[in-house]
Amino acid sequence: MKNYEKNIFTKIISGEIPCKKVFEDEYCFAFHDINPKAQVHILIVPKMNVVDFSDFIQKNEKNNEFIANFFKSVNKIANDILKLDNFQIISNNGRNAGQEVFHFHIHIKSNKK
Ligand code: AMP
Repeated sequence: MKNYEKNIFTKIISGEIPCKKVFEDEYCFAFHDINPKAQVHILIVPKMNVVDFSDFIQKNEKNNEFIANFFKSVNKIANDILKLDNFQIISNNGRNAGQEVFHFHIHIKSNKK
């Protein structure tokens, strides 16, 4: 059962819950993970209420532009904002894959600047 209720990341985007913000544009909101698992660990959340990666793709079936622009923003954050040469981009899709927050997000992790 997918949960569309207001979640912690929706509240971070709206400013109801504080975060260490990195970047924001019309497609995404990026901030530091509260419990970093690498030297650099950033979360990037689309400004859209979708629970996981598959839901994000499905909900935007007729809106490829949003998908493309979201992933371009992810790339911009890694390269231009964080200036990382080496990094991982990860998204846990589903509880059994380790997803804890049911608002689609990308993890950018890096141990080398
Ligand atoms: P996932 O397991 O893929 O759903 O990732 C959820 C991530 O959100 C974890 O790495 C948590 O450390 C992180 N997290 C949870 N609450 C917050 C918060 N308030 N601010 C920043 N990161 C958070």
